[in-house]
Amino acid sequence: MRSIPYSKVLCIGNELKYVREVLDSGWLTTAIKTQRFEREFSEVVGAKYSFAVNSCTAALHLSLDAIGVGPGDEVFVPTMTFTATAEVVRYLGGNPIFLDVDYATALITTEILARAVSEHPHVKTLIPVHYGGQAAPLILKNERGLLDICRENGLKVVEDAAHAFPARCAGRMIGSIGDVTCFSFYANKTITTGEGGMLTTNDDSVAKRVKVMRLHGINRDIWERHTSVGSSWEYDVIAPGFKYNMPDTAAAIGLAQLERANLFRQERERCAMFYFKNLADIDTLDLPKVRESMADHAWHLFSIVLNERSRVPRNRFLELMAEKGIGTSVHYKPLHRMTYYKERYGLRTEDFPNAERIWKGCVSLPIYPTLSDEELDYICKSIRDILD
Ligand SMILES: *Cc1c(COP(=O)(O)O)cnc(C)c1O
Repeated sequence: MRSIPYSKVLCIGNELKYVREVLDSGWLTTAIKTQRFEREFSEVVGAKYSFAVNSCTAALHLSLDAIGVGPGDEVFVPTMTFTATAEVVRYLGGNPIFLDVDYATALITTEILARAVSEHPHVKTLIPVHYGGQAAPLILKNERGLLDICRENGLKVVEDAAHAFPARCAGRMIGSIGDVTCFSFYANKTITTGEGGMLTTNDDSVAKRVKVMRLHGINRDIWERHTSVGSSWEYDVIAPGFKYNMPDTAAAIGLAQLERANLFRQERERCAMFYFKNLADIDTLDLPKVRESMADHAWHLFSIVLNERSRVPRNRFLELMAEKGIGTSVHYKPLHRMTYYKERYGLRTEDFPNAERIWKGCVSLPIYPTLSDEELDYICKSIRDILD
């Protein structure tokens, strides 16, 4: 019996070497490996500042705090995302306003945002999610993008880029575009540190606040105190901050992963290409739409939708794939269907028609660098078997 897991972590480079260097150094928490990881990440995405943290959720929380989201403030969030995107709004006493998404891309479109802005003119923050690793239309070549609408209406943009490293929008790296961008290095993401995240920004005042709030609201970080020549013990607390710093053991893994990020992305693109070629003619399936080029996409997910013509219900399809030894996943059960949000905000499925269509049929297929063409062929043939 074959066994093709849904996802596979690859630590095949300098991970062990860099972690050993950390262990040998005797300094395991945030220090020079983290600083190097931040510096190299900034270079890759083209951001003035990068802050390594212990999750993308922490990065999102710090971002909203830094742009000043507070009690009673409302924030636009797509419904087709992981709960972290919306829960951080609640951490600060704010309220998410859930938006439907485009059926073909599962992204917020300019039409959706423009309508939301006219219905909720007081909202001052948008969290776009780069679903699956494809950039939301922040910048469009010949028309207004999400960013233009936000600038015209005084909204700040905090990007949930948990899926989108490395990815581009209109030729620019994700991480250099919005007011703040948040990446995830959770175990199944495109690069990993086990648990971890990165916050990038070009905004000096955001950077200043994040630096303090990341570590207990202390005005000097512990490594700076350790290495300074003056009185090393002295520090002040200027805010009730959080404990969100990344340890050097994790940053060591991140540095090694960063070295392979482009190679990994290319190999995932190969998988996506294979799926497009081999599944395009199945009329009970809708394949994801690529907005710009294949190469701008991080290809974290390859999510297909069993459409209204399919005789096989989605959950049955997942069972049959499992019987063939193929791991799959679902991205996502939308947030308007989750008990907490549904009950607290009185959300109704009929207000999210596109997300509902996606949810009813969506299946995420395996996509990772070591997935072979032979395995991809087996997956595609199995899909055909099941749907025929
Ligand atoms: C994984 C994920 C997160 C959370 O990332 P963590 O690093 O686990 O906190 C947030 N948003 C989306 C869309 C994700 O997929």
